Amino acid sequence: MNILMFGPNGSGKGTQGAIVKDKYNLPHVESGAIFRENIGKGTEIGVKAKEYIDRGELVPDEITIPMILDRLKQDDCKNGWLLDGFPRNKVQAIKLDEALKAAGLDLDIVVEVLLDREIAKNRIMGRRLCANDNNHPNNIFIDAIKPDGDKCRVCGGDLSTRSDDQDEDAIGKRHAIYYDTDTGTLAATYYFKDLAEKEGKIKYINLDGSPGVKEVTADLMSKL
Ligand code: AMP
Repeated sequence: MNILMFGPNGSGKGTQGAIVKDKYNLPHVESGAIFRENIGKGTEIGVKAKEYIDRGELVPDEITIPMILDRLKQDDCKNGWLLDGFPRNKVQAIKLDEALKAAGLDLDIVVEVLLDREIAKNRIMGRRLCANDNNHPNNIFIDAIKPDGDKCRVCGGDLSTRSDDQDEDAIGKRHAIYYDTDTGTLAATYYFKDLAEKEGKIKYINLDGSPGVKEVTADLMSKL
């Protein structure tokens, strides 16, 4: 089972993705998390990526596309994957489609979480990352997932913020890329929506990301 997750930063895409990956027992391949891991380890990719990430810009395709296509060839991806954060623009969408076709692989499901840009921005500024699992939902502005004091509400782990989450300019730039329907991430979603309509093999799921986590999950489960 090969699944793509789309949604603006702050839409709960990562949280819902973690639930889908558990349901189908798939590796969760998150481009942003791979970059953060590389930054943490000080690798060459990490050093190059950090300057773009801190500005809220996309890491160049020459770095990102091979990094993700190589990741999908690793052993744990043999029986499928859930890809989250990639493709982020139309070029990446085309390259992914070409790579899948060349490898004889089908895309099974595409999930698009829809959320208003202003709501997404507020959610980003309130989110906190758990040291044990980035997808444990913690947000100081959302009652249902408020942290337990300064600790993770799921496991009690230490919480931190992402530096690119507290910078309004960087958030604005990330959203400008996401909501760009010509060359940005919405152009990538439309690319796969078109394929779903033309080829009829892909199940395309639209989700309203505005209710609470539980409601969105229930909607997702009923549509999968
Ligand atoms: P995320 O955790 O998905 O919000 O990603 C954090 C940052 O990593 C983004 O703002 C980009 O700078 C970079 N990034 C993640 N995925 C991609 C991608 N597919 N293409 C280019 N840059 C990316």
